[in-house]
Amino acid sequence: MNKIPLTATALTLALVAMIAVPTAQAAPCLIVTLTGTQGGPQAFNGLAGPGTLVRYGDDGNNCGAVMLQFDAGRGTMMRLSQLGVGPSRLNAIFFTHMHNDHTEGFADLIQLRWSFYGTGPKIDAVCSSDIVSPLGFTVSCKKFIIHIADAFIQSGEIAERHSEVKDRTAGGPADLVNTITFEPKDEPQFVWSSGAVRVSAIRSSHMVGHVSYRVDTPAGSVVIGGDASNDVPAPPRASSTSDQVEKLAKGADIIVHSTIHPIMGPDKGSGMFPYAYYRQSTAADLGAMAKRAGAKYLMLTHLIPPIGADRQDPFKVPGGPLTEADYRKAAQDGGFTGIIIVGTDLVSVRLPAK
Ligand SMILES: [Zn+2]
Repeated sequence: MNKIPLTATALTLALVAMIAVPTAQAAPCLIVTLTGTQGGPQAFNGLAGPGTLVRYGDDGNNCGAVMLQFDAGRGTMMRLSQLGVGPSRLNAIFFTHMHNDHTEGFADLIQLRWSFYGTGPKIDAVCSSDIVSPLGFTVSCKKFIIHIADAFIQSGEIAERHSEVKDRTAGGPADLVNTITFEPKDEPQFVWSSGAVRVSAIRSSHMVGHVSYRVDTPAGSVVIGGDASNDVPAPPRASSTSDQVEKLAKGADIIVHSTIHPIMGPDKGSGMFPYAYYRQSTAADLGAMAKRAGAKYLMLTHLIPPIGADRQDPFKVPGGPLTEADYRKAAQDGGFTGIIIVGTDLVSVRLPAK
């Protein structure tokens, strides 16, 4: 009498197991890590230059199937080594803009990749297409990459290393980069994808060619604002944040954004150049933007001034060094009630949270 129901139950259980087991093994996850939080070209207390590592995968590969680096400031490779991420592991690097503090770590990273993984695979480098500044010169990510190892080509270093190991391409590190450029637009556009990971970009203001990115994955989404600020370069304006970044960030889980504390404002006596102050987003305005966008996490990075610094050289920090709580309060003053991460090198957010 029980035989048929038992068999049916067993079959059901087997089916559930077949469906449930692979699903459990393949639970998707996303880890966002700040590889450097220094704001601007200054050097302070061992902080690495700005950069964010986004890792996506599942529990089986510790969220490490796809690894994307956004900007590569000073010391990026050292920070990646602390995460156990070797130079060959990155699938792509994205540049928000060509300021040296966001790009100078790339030479180190790609030279290392060429030295030890000289046969490839290539790394994708994604950035804006060439653009002529109103001042007449051209900002070119493409040329930055083509010439990334010129000093070492000129010094004979590339020829020497190539003579030792012929697998290293004769042209040097630039041979290992697949450059993908796009024309920045005021609406999100897809610029890169791999499987379920899709990256889109939007134009934003800071310097010509500046863009912000959004990564969408089945485990969640993250926006990398870079140094974006409002298109209106100085007050009066509704906010110091970018309207385009806000559009890009709508419904995103995490916003990573460069930050300036309002204490550095030209009216507060820091002596900071007004143009340099106004081309960053303030912590308070970022809090307000994150709230409007509906984000769950706001990761403040590229902190100007750094926590604990009495100067953002050559400018002073009025009232003395800031604390983590000062930045947190500023973002909360903007109305954000989600989770605020005041960036330190190597801090991470994982989705789903463990
Ligand atoms: Zn910057």
